[in-house]
This record gives sequence, C-alpha cells and structure tokens, in this order.
Amino acid sequence: MSATTTLPPFKPLDPVGIDDLLSDDEKAVRASVRRLCAERIEPHVADWFERGTIDDVRGLAKELGALGVLGMHLEGYGCAGMSATEYGLACLELEAADSGIRSLVSVQGSLAMFAIWRWGSEEQKSEWLPRMAAGEAIGCFGLTEPDIGSDPGGMRTRARRDGSDWVLDGRKMWITNGTIADVAVVWASTEDGIRGFVVPTATPGFSAPEIKHKQSLRASVTSELVLDGVRLPESAAFPDVRGLKGPLSCLNEARYGIVWGALGAARSSLQAALDYANERVQFGKPISAFQLTQQKLVEMNLEYTKGLLLALHLGRRKDAGRLRPEQVSIGKLSNVRGALEICRTARSVLGANGISLEYPVIRHMNNLESVLTYEGTVEMHTLVVGQAMTGHAAFR
Ligand SMILES: Cc1cc2nc3c(=O)[nH]c(=O)nc-3n(C[C@H](O)[C@H](O)[C@H](O)COP(=O)(O)OP(=O)(O)OC[C@H]3O[C@@H](n4cnc5c(N)ncnc54)[C@H](O)[C@@H]3O)c2cc1C
Repeated sequence: MSATTTLPPFKPLDPVGIDDLLSDDEKAVRASVRRLCAERIEPHVADWFERGTIDDVRGLAKELGALGVLGMHLEGYGCAGMSATEYGLACLELEAADSGIRSLVSVQGSLAMFAIWRWGSEEQKSEWLPRMAAGEAIGCFGLTEPDIGSDPGGMRTRARRDGSDWVLDGRKMWITNGTIADVAVVWASTEDGIRGFVVPTATPGFSAPEIKHKQSLRASVTSELVLDGVRLPESAAFPDVRGLKGPLSCLNEARYGIVWGALGAARSSLQAALDYANERVQFGKPISAFQLTQQKLVEMNLEYTKGLLLALHLGRRKDAGRLRPEQVSIGKLSNVRGALEICRTARSVLGANGISLEYPVIRHMNNLESVLTYEGTVEMHTLVVGQAMTGHAAFR
C-alpha cells in the first residue's frame, strides 16, 4: 500500500461503498429508473397518496413499459431480458418513489406476466406478454380470498368444466391492479387440484370493485375480484401446472423484488431524516449535532447498508441460478422489517413534521405496513425459515 493512496470520499448514503460492486450497466439501469421517478412520479405521488388515486395510471404504465421495466427480467415476447440484479435495482428506485408504484410494476411483471411466461401456453404468451411488457395491457394476480390468506390451499374459488368450457365462481380479495386490469391471472380449485386461468377482464360475470378506505398503499389500486359464472374456453387454463407450485413460483419472484424495493422506502426516509436533521435547529444548533440524533441516523444507516448487501448477494445468487426460496424469505423478512424500523425512526427525527405528507416518511411508513403483510407475512416467512433450519413445519 502506498503512503499516498487517496481514499474514495465517504458517501453518507453509501457508507461502505456498495456502488463499487455494481457494473456500469447496472448503474445505467438504476439511473434511468431514478430519472423517470424524479420526473414523472415524485412530484405527484404525495398528492396521489392523499387522494387515493394515481392520475393517468394507464399513461404511467406505458411510460414504465417504454423504459423496459415491465417484466424486465423475463426473456422474449417483448420483455427486456435484464438480470435479476438490474430488476432489483429498479425495484429499489421505484419504491424510493412509492411502494404503490413498485407494487404496480411487481404485480405486472413478477406475478401476472411471470405466471403467463412460466406456465402459459404459447398462445397465451403471444397474446398477452408483448402488450403487457409495453404497458398497453395491465395485469393482476388473484390468489387471496376474503376468508383465505396465508393458507391459500383452502381456497374456495372453483372452476368446473361445462362441456369444453370452464366456469369460474368465487371471490378474490386485496388484488393489486384489479380494477384497472385488462387480464387477471386467477387461481381456482378444480377436480384436478388448484389451476391457474388467464381471464380477460371484459369476460361477462367478471367485475373488480375497488377497495376504499385504505391507509396504506394509497397510490395503488387494490380490488376485490368477483367471478360470477365466468365462462372461459379450455385454452384459458395454464396447461401443465397443478397445485400451489404454480402461484408460489410467482410469489417467489415478487418477493425477490420486495427484498430490494423495501430498501428504496428506507433510503428515501433516511435521506429525508438526514436533510431535516441538518436543517432543523433546536437549543441553538442543528438537531444532527446531538448525540441521540446521530445515533438514530447511524442505526438507520447500518440497517440500510446490511439490507443492501443482503439484497445484492441474493441478486447475484439469482443471476447464477442458485437462489433458494428460503433465502428469498430471509431477504423479504429481514429487509421489510428493517425498512419499517428505519421509517419509524426517521419519522421521530422529523418530529411533528414527520406525520405530514409534505415529507415522504409517513407515506413510506404506512406503505410498508402493507409490504410487511403481502407476499407472505412476517410470521409465514419466519415459519419458512424455521422449517428450513429445524426440519419441522410449524404452520399447523
Ligand atoms: C395492499 C395489499 C395488496 C395486496 N395485493 C395482493 C394481490 O395482488 N394478490 C393477492 O393474491 N393478494 C394480495 N394481497 C393479499 C396478501 O397477500 C394477504 O393479505 C396476505 O397473504 C395475508 O393474508 P391475510 O391478510 O388474509 O391474513 P391471514 O392469513 O388471515 O393472517 C392474519 C395474521 O395471522 C397470522 N397467521 C396466519 N397463519 C398463521 C400461522 N400458522 N402461524 C402464525 N401466524 C399465523 C398472519 O401471519 C397474520 O399476522 C394484498 C394485500 C394488501 C394489504
């Protein structure tokens, strides 16, 4: 080591230099998504959250499609074919804007598109994937029901054969993008086990009323799906997959995106807390000069940094085809919990301003309450990891 070695500067939001582990291509993807968020989403998202609606959501979907982030980690059919790490970086940037916008992209790409890409017939793929990648068609994914959440094996939505057709009856609940979707991937119980169906939402008997009164993920459409004698041709069913393997394979994809995404909400809140602490003066000096505030800022940064290293490690494993579902559970559980803690601490740094939508922190904090629950609750992921560690399934 030379005595004249110049160390790189300390970056408050990248304190250990994780950026050095990213390729130029990865940084370029991150920069392009960050730019779209800064121009198109961040100036409006607090207002969308307050009003509980995303203005021109279809236009936004097309812009996200033009950028290549819809189904961006899938190959062919108009998808961008990028790496899992690039997809993760995109999720982080989107969620730094708002978890609701990242949810729009996750449900489109990792749930609806992935389901069709992985399990669909050639006809289903050609019909839907290019339009979904372009954001011209919006998809949703219906697994959860009013009485069935963590235990989807007990679902009540039924698909029965009628001649050469299928007829679907039932209800799905808490379905992201439902009201605005052109196509719904619906999981239903059949004589032959659980099967997936590609349901054009214009089919008679299908409706998707929006769920109101949410205090979380308000810049996201969440809906009930009502299936009342929805008649579909044989070709609407996924041909080969049976049982929970189908939906769980999709959830695993979306959970991977959340491992990164939650850190976006955390980074935005940490940045807001740092900026605020440097500007806010009490007892004659910036509150960032008090030891107790510094401890909060440092603890937040430690949690964020560890989360980012974990996400990047899991991303590299996914790109190498070596990522196990239990490892995704560890990432989702650890990073969402950590991100929520960061947001709560940031909220306290901002004092009373912390509860105002003038700052992003309370919005991120409320959003993460949904992220903590969907795609497998804290308890479910704990039990997944517990089973992997001990060999005992403690779900029942
Ligand atoms: C904003 C939002 C968007 C969503 N989007 C979608 C979507 O697009 N598609 C979709 O299909 N679903 C979606 N969901 C639903 C989500 O996946 C479910 O809410 C989640 O799976 C949990 O189900 P539940 O709410 O019915 O809770 P429950 O399963 O009823 O659980 C309630 C509580 O009991 C705990 N619990 C349950 N079983 C056990 C056990 N064995 N041991 C210990 N604790 C247990 C849970 O962990 C939880 O804390 C969304 C939810 C939200 C909030």
